[in-house]
Amino acid sequence: MTGEITWPKARDYFTRAMRLRCPVCGSTPIFPPLSRTRSLSDWFTPLDGCPRCGYAYDREPGYFLLSVWAINYGVAALLGLFLYLVFEWFYEWPVWNLIAAVVVPVVVFNILFARHSKSIFIAWDHLFDPHEREGGDDGGNMPQGNAPAPTRPPSRARLPVDAGV
Ligand SMILES: [Zn+2]
Repeated sequence: MTGEITWPKARDYFTRAMRLRCPVCGSTPIFPPLSRTRSLSDWFTPLDGCPRCGYAYDREPGYFLLSVWAINYGVAALLGLFLYLVFEWFYEWPVWNLIAAVVVPVVVFNILFARHSKSIFIAWDHLFDPHEREGGDDGGNMPQGNAPAPTRPPSRARLPVDAGV
């Protein structure tokens, strides 16, 4: 799926990311539904791939490091800086009140924004480095034509050794 990067395409991908939807088909969610979210791990972990179009969300180990360090922490740092400047400018609070008023909302924001930072990263990556199947079955993750979507990306496929367990 090579193609030029255009503003409409970037806008579509960003809109899908903000709705936590697959960047390719835009219809299926990237994360499990809230009704199936039982732990923080469920909250933070995206599905293996899109059940509709087969696009793999988690391409390789460490894939989401940049989404956490750059997008999630970066936006939260800007939020914290903004809150600090507003509180410092308009209120004369003791320093511990000021710290609490900045740190608590930033931590809550980090947790709530974690899903969006990952979906934004997936959309960003798909915009600038779209993957396509390169023949064979060893690394591509986009279905060809009407091929059925893989249930798991190749990186998480079971090894033959696990077959008897
Ligand atoms: Zn999809």
